[in-house]
Amino acid sequence: EAKMKGRNQYCFYRQEMHQEVAEKLALEKALHGAINKNEFILVYQPQVNTHGQLIGFETLLRWFNDELGQVPPSRFIPVAEEAGLIDEVGYWVLDNACRQLKIWQEEGLPSLFESIAINISPYQFAKDDFVDTIKKVIEKHQIDPSLLDLEITEGMLVEKISSVTEKMWQLKELNIRFSIDDFGTGYSSLRYIQHFPLTQLKIDQSFVRDLSGDSSNSSIINTIVSMASHMALSVLAEGVENLEEKVLLDQAGCSRYQGYYFSKPLEESMASQCLHENVRFPLISHV
Ligand code: C2E
Ligand code: MG
Ligand code: MG
Ligand code: MG
Repeated sequence: EAKMKGRNQYCFYRQEMHQEVAEKLALEKALHGAINKNEFILVYQPQVNTHGQLIGFETLLRWFNDELGQVPPSRFIPVAEEAGLIDEVGYWVLDNACRQLKIWQEEGLPSLFESIAINISPYQFAKDDFVDTIKKVIEKHQIDPSLLDLEITEGMLVEKISSVTEKMWQLKELNIRFSIDDFGTGYSSLRYIQHFPLTQLKIDQSFVRDLSGDSSNSSIINTIVSMASHMALSVLAEGVENLEEKVLLDQAGCSRYQGYYFSKPLEESMASQCLHENVRFPLISHV
């Protein structure tokens, strides 16, 4: 009986695995053509200060495929990484984000505006020519490097430390900013991260969730904020979904935010409009 059950379970797992592999292969196949077929776009999620004024945008990739529909980055980025396509995809993001940044730079940015953030995959960062690639894209679009904020993950700071620090310092010399994305979910202790030329910690949205109910989350945020201030780093909270969370973050000393409460990621035309009209978030709709 037990043996039968075991066998059935085995078949079931095999089938599931087969499905997963098939799905990944389909994604990978479609990803190969995505750039040439213009299936990617960039959207820009506002980052704001305590008054809801725009201090930056995070660039987020969107993929629309005829057969697969819209595929979220949480599904296709890992596939692109495994398939060795992330360099090409990552370069497309860099190139297009910098092209847009140049346009905004020419049009004139509001005085509070600091940077646009770009997510960098660990695989991209690990490439020997990463620093050169960044320098070239800056040169190509003639952008001010201090307007660039590269989002990296905690995991990247743990591996190959000397080459990571060296690359970061080379970019830091150009005044490029570095933020740690999803901070608090990885392994880096605060003592550890002081060796890297960082600008900002982005508190992962899991700590912001249920901030009102869970007192351990607010003490984590308190700790991150106070230690970051000792290290002269700024702290931005991700995934802020309502006013209550914003107020509790304020009380914990965090005064930079990003999240649906303020704004969802915006398409380019809307992002441009918000920049030019110097709006405050959340936008009040006048319907
Ligand atoms: P991330 O960098 O941590 O980006 C934040 C994610 O949280 C985005 O999801 C954003 O839409 C979502 N978000 C923002 N505010 C809220 C909120 O209030 N509530 C909730 N529930 N979610 C919120 P998205 O765009 O689906 O991206 C998911 C992840 O995919 C990103 O996480 C990032 O790791 C990766 N990603 C996105 N674009 C790129 C890219 O161009 N390159 C690389 N390497 N990774 C990317
Ligand atoms: Mg990010
Ligand atoms: Mg994040
Ligand atoms: Mg995330």
